[in-house]
Amino acid sequence: MTLRKNNILTDFDTSKVSWLKSGGNIDKLFKINTESDLRTISKDIDYKNGILPIGNFSNLLIREKGYSGTAIKLTGDFSKIHVENDFLLVGAGVLDSFFSQYCYRNSITGYEFLHTIPGSVGGNIFMNAGCYGQEIKDRLKSIIYFDFEKNKISEIYSSDLSFGYRKGFQIPNILILFGKFEIKKADQNSIKSLMKEYEYKRNLTQPQKVNCCGSIFKNPTNQNAWKLIKTALDESFYKGPIKLSLKHSNFFENDANIKSDLIYEFINKIQKKVKEKHNIVMEKELQII
Ligand SMILES: Cc1cc2nc3c(=O)[nH]c(=O)nc-3n(C[C@H](O)[C@H](O)[C@H](O)COP(=O)(O)OP(=O)(O)OC[C@H]3O[C@@H](n4cnc5c(N)ncnc54)[C@H](O)[C@@H]3O)c2cc1C
Repeated sequence: MTLRKNNILTDFDTSKVSWLKSGGNIDKLFKINTESDLRTISKDIDYKNGILPIGNFSNLLIREKGYSGTAIKLTGDFSKIHVENDFLLVGAGVLDSFFSQYCYRNSITGYEFLHTIPGSVGGNIFMNAGCYGQEIKDRLKSIIYFDFEKNKISEIYSSDLSFGYRKGFQIPNILILFGKFEIKKADQNSIKSLMKEYEYKRNLTQPQKVNCCGSIFKNPTNQNAWKLIKTALDESFYKGPIKLSLKHSNFFENDANIKSDLIYEFINKIQKKVKEKHNIVMEKELQII
């Protein structure tokens, strides 16, 4: 069996899907709908040339020279949520907004924070995404993933993993397929009011309706990245086609279709200035390929 032609994209322009509206091309992108699609392509993929799973492109930037390995986007069966006994089986391609709405409709609590994150479940598990004191690992029971090296689907319990701050399940040559999540019932009104509260907080403190990637840098231990940036950079960083947000200094906003290498250079400049001023090397949260 072969993959349908429209599920194989070549020279794919990532600026069309990236939250930054910027990025180089991907040589080959496979859209995978089913486990059988995955089995089909896995035979042809040389994982040694690189595998890049793609979620909702909200924390990913491809540099101008492009990506020559194999990129994979999960859709179809991997964009669904099923209730199984006492857990939710959630496809890695499910978007956070859909997941939190689904939980609201079914009176399930613990996923309200995802209402304000624009990623997918696969990206969340990779990044251990979180906000407002919660992280995706908190209610994650296990992960089902495909290992390209072993050519095998496996399951791992989250209790056997060491998640950290923005450090999730980050193993080379694997594709997260599903997460199994706890079910805890609650009153729909309290779920809705938490979702609204988080949305309100988000609108108050972070830029909206602009091209951005969320936080640029992780907060160093016991420090706030935004404070370090604000105290190290002059006003010129708040002007131009790529500029720091006046609402939140650890966010930048950029014009659409700006070259991704310019964004890369802008971020490196910030990192250098903060190092000079505070002697701290901030780690990028944005994944740059
Ligand atoms: C406006 C805005 C606000 C944000 N706010 C927050 C926030 O509050 N908290 C927070 O944590 N993040 C935040 N982010 C960042 C981002 O949404 C999260 O990191 C999210 O988890 C990324 O998910 P994604 O599906 O978009 O992943 P992508 O950006 O597509 O990919 C991110 C990484 O995950 C890997 N990946 C994706 N899917 C899979 C998979 N199936 N298997 C293996 N690896 C995979 C990719 O290879 C890549 O390395 C924000 C971003 C924006 C634009």
